[in-house]
Amino acid sequence: MLHFEKGMRFNRLVLISFAYKKNEVSHWTARCDCGTIKAYSVYKMRSGHTQSCGCLHKERIRTHNQTKTNLYYRYHAILHRCNNPDNIYYKNYGGRGIKCLWETFEEFANDMGQPPTPKHTLDRIDNDGHYCKENCRWATRFEQSINTRQNRLITHDGKTQCLALWAKEYGMTPNMLRGRLQSGWTMENALTKKPRSRGFNRRGVFVRAADFPNSQRRISEPTPTP
Ligand SMILES: [Zn+2]
Repeated sequence: MLHFEKGMRFNRLVLISFAYKKNEVSHWTARCDCGTIKAYSVYKMRSGHTQSCGCLHKERIRTHNQTKTNLYYRYHAILHRCNNPDNIYYKNYGGRGIKCLWETFEEFANDMGQPPTPKHTLDRIDNDGHYCKENCRWATRFEQSINTRQNRLITHDGKTQCLALWAKEYGMTPNMLRGRLQSGWTMENALTKKPRSRGFNRRGVFVRAADFPNSQRRISEPTPTP
């Protein structure tokens, strides 16, 4: 025989008192965590069929619809980039012949699923390829940044990779490495000199140009105070 008593909890429901029997099934009055008080079948509470006054289910549906909606926006953003010449990104997508091969949202959702985190965005593996299952993956901004068209490939010590990967390998930011190379540094120095040593500014860019005639002076003089 099942035993029920005041204070027993079934997910969000906490038993208050015996209510009534209906078709031989005991019903207990319970308070839901949201405050609603109602009677429920003890069997349905014990089996997990009833877990709340209904608020839990509503919340789950809301979350589900929300994630579905986000994915839907992402799909439509792709369509606009590829098909709508008024879209500000069109020139980099549709304008370059890139197509969205998913004809419906359902196809897209089936192929790609949900992004692992909200920070993941859809990345085309081959930057000149289309939007389709084979050429797309969810990637973080960093993963994407090493795969963009603008990325310059740098060969050093017999190895060729993009600037972002070189920077990562040597524990510096891509901006620092880019700044150093733009200032005329050799790749060797740009990768190995410690930041903020003598003659370098906060970004690790060389500023004492007079000692090194080959490097361009990029940092402006302090503005004279009137
Ligand atoms: Zn509730």
